[in-house]
Amino acid sequence: MQVALVTVGDELLAGDTENTNATWLAARLTERGATVERVLVVPDDVDVIASEVAAFADVYDAVLVTGGLGPTHDDLTMAGVAAAFDREMIEHPDAVAYFEEHEQYQRSDLADGTTELPADARVLENEVGVAPGAVVENVYVLPGVPTEMEAMFDAVAGEFGGTKLHVETVRVDRPESSLVDVIAELRERYDVEVGSYPGDDVRVKIRHENPETARAAADWLTDRVA
Ligand code: ATP
Ligand code: MG
Repeated sequence: MQVALVTVGDELLAGDTENTNATWLAARLTERGATVERVLVVPDDVDVIASEVAAFADVYDAVLVTGGLGPTHDDLTMAGVAAAFDREMIEHPDAVAYFEEHEQYQRSDLADGTTELPADARVLENEVGVAPGAVVENVYVLPGVPTEMEAMFDAVAGEFGGTKLHVETVRVDRPESSLVDVIAELRERYDVEVGSYPGDDVRVKIRHENPETARAAADWLTDRVA
């Protein structure tokens, strides 16, 4: 399953808020076997949200959007996602019913717009906060506040999956540039995915569906360069 992430917020672009939602979602999705193909940060702008979400929804199996759900002036994500699919924003009957059933919320206490969602969206309850999330076709709209986003993702996590790859890591104490040929041969011999991540040493990560193949490839590389 190929997935894209869209994180919404001027404060992310300005560097005021660290984009931990993207990192957290990428790790959870990868753990489940989905492949995150893109991570995008966009401003609080309905037209930009709409065009980027529409483009990703066309190409990827699923798109996860976080941020900008509340009813304040800078919370434009639902309107952007509605526009991406040419849907109206409506007073959503499932959101209205949810707040009527949960008596801790007095209708009059809710800010205007809290129950306005794209027409025909599947409503996602916000167990930690107030503003509900939504699923529109293959687009999942989640809150920006990390604890709210995480709880809402956990409720739909079963909808994301794929073939899990086994990962072996080999640490190599040589310049990365000296590994080009040996990594090319490794990929050819074992048909593995290989990533190399330089730091104090170079971490070479070898991925394959079959753990034995990943291990054999790691042993082969270790014999040559580690
Ligand atoms: P609210 O209903 O509280 O307005 P919201 O769903 O509209 O929530 P935002 O207004 O976009 O979310 O963000 C609320 C707060 O959540 C931000 O001030 C920031 O602290 C945090 N936040 C938003 N996006 C991210 C992100 N991508 N990574 C980490 N934290 C984030
Ligand atoms: Mg907000």
